[in-house]
Amino acid sequence: MQEQSLPQMSPGDEDNRTSLENAHPSFWRNPQPMDNYSLAIVGGGPAGLLTAHMAATLGAKVALVERNLLGGQCFNVGCIPSKAIIRTSRLYAEMRTAENFGAQVPSGITVDFQRAMARMRQVRARISRRRCSVQRLSSMGVDVYFGEARFAGPRTVIVDGKTLRFRKALIATGARPKLPSIPGLAEAGFLTNENVFNLTECPRRLLVIGGGPLGCELAQALCRLGSRVAIAQSDPMFLGKEERDAAQILSDALARDGIEVHLNTQVTGVRVEGKQKFVDLITDDNKRTVAVDEILVGIGSVPNVEDMNLQAAGVKYDSEAGIPIDDFLQTTNPRIYAAGDVCSEHKFPHIEAAAARIVVRNALFCGRKRLSTLAIPWCTYTDPEIAHVGLYVREARAKGIAVKTFTVLMHDVDRAISDAEEEGFVKIHVKEGTDKILGATVVASHAGEMINEISLAMGSGIGLRALARVNQPYPTQADAIKMAADAYNRTRLTPALKWLFKQWLAW
Ligand SMILES: Cc1cc2nc3c(=O)[nH]c(=O)nc-3n(C[C@H](O)[C@H](O)[C@H](O)COP(=O)(O)OP(=O)(O)OC[C@H]3O[C@@H](n4cnc5c(N)ncnc54)[C@H](O)[C@@H]3O)c2cc1C
Repeated sequence: MQEQSLPQMSPGDEDNRTSLENAHPSFWRNPQPMDNYSLAIVGGGPAGLLTAHMAATLGAKVALVERNLLGGQCFNVGCIPSKAIIRTSRLYAEMRTAENFGAQVPSGITVDFQRAMARMRQVRARISRRRCSVQRLSSMGVDVYFGEARFAGPRTVIVDGKTLRFRKALIATGARPKLPSIPGLAEAGFLTNENVFNLTECPRRLLVIGGGPLGCELAQALCRLGSRVAIAQSDPMFLGKEERDAAQILSDALARDGIEVHLNTQVTGVRVEGKQKFVDLITDDNKRTVAVDEILVGIGSVPNVEDMNLQAAGVKYDSEAGIPIDDFLQTTNPRIYAAGDVCSEHKFPHIEAAAARIVVRNALFCGRKRLSTLAIPWCTYTDPEIAHVGLYVREARAKGIAVKTFTVLMHDVDRAISDAEEEGFVKIHVKEGTDKILGATVVASHAGEMINEISLAMGSGIGLRALARVNQPYPTQADAIKMAADAYNRTRLTPALKWLFKQWLAW
């Protein structure tokens, strides 16, 4: 067996040691391969883990190969640690605005950054026990191999000097942070999501480069945890894909938090003087320089496709766009599937669970389940949250579909008023003349929870009309969805129908 270098987590406290013991324990010895695996999975992030879990539960012989930490980006340096610090930062924001809730602002609020990060590590360790534990996977019958996977042919993959033969395989190797080529940046040093969660001290002044979900979530969280944050985004708005009014609400919210917002802005150079980093920005034609202590880069990701010898497996790939797949998640080798961030298509963050179900069904049970038939929501966990499912209006129009939109503002929703969480809206788009839901955007404090009702309706072919009949406890912020459905129903009340009702009631 080759000597493997063990991954590290910083700081080396008890919680990080627990995470390592679950996700890549030092005592682990790779098993002896079986003759022929029903499914070999490369990559132990959410896509790989969920697929391994499902396939093994159904009795398949499964091998899972991971080169670093089980749980991948999501559990170790993505979804989970970010959500943990976002929660703490929201609490501080609520304390500072306690008057909005009829309470007193506590005197002398000081942020204990170390404690916030310690809680994050505790949360991560706790979740790793349930979701990323090699012992748990192994007890389910999954053969877990740690090491770099390299294909040796269309039905074989090699790890740690062992040859694994497979009938079907899944490539779920994810992606890594994309790095901009800004003069002086590498020399000055910078953070990405891969090391920002190692921080034990809050940067006094921080520049975030990139106004996508990652940049916006972390800019707001770190600002609320005490950093003086500026954010530079090359586009004219944040969250390039989202609807303009949603992005505008976010822009205003970030500015209200005290973040210096630079839209339409290019970062052109970085230089270090003493302990300070001076970053040159150009907005339209205006040049300015900001002085910061740290720079966080969040401009997207590049797929992990190199060094796997994919040619030998007959799998085409592109080092920027990733692995092309069809609607069944098959690569150019029909025995090999791909899912998650490594794929060029359907690169949505929340897709892993759906992709895992499709891979298990299609690869192991000769299924023909199509990804395009699913309604998959996603959410940016800023305050307010921004969630979306289905088509945007521009996408529907591009497909020649006429759209009618029903909008409810959160400041008209009783529960949002009583919670002092009135910012945002629910917008539901239907196909003109029908109640077929094409898509929806929710901007609200808990948009990530609210969008689920709409995506369930879309996935089950339930129209907007029926959502008016959902019995809900009163009051909830999800009333906004019912109100949008009521608005739709009112459009069905034509003058003729109104006249008929009037006659009936008079009689
Ligand atoms: C800060 C941040 C916050 C995020 N928040 C959210 C969120 O709230 N909700 C959400 O849905 N998404 C979120 N995401 C996105 C989410 O983390 C990714 O979409 C998700 O992790 C992708 O899963 P994956 O399984 O495709 O890949 P990954 O999680 O990247 O896992 C791939 C795994 O494959 C391994 N690997 C790579 N190459 C090889 C090889 N050759 N051999 C063996 N193993 C290999 C890697 O080590 C890694 O463990 C966030 C991302 C970031 C950065």
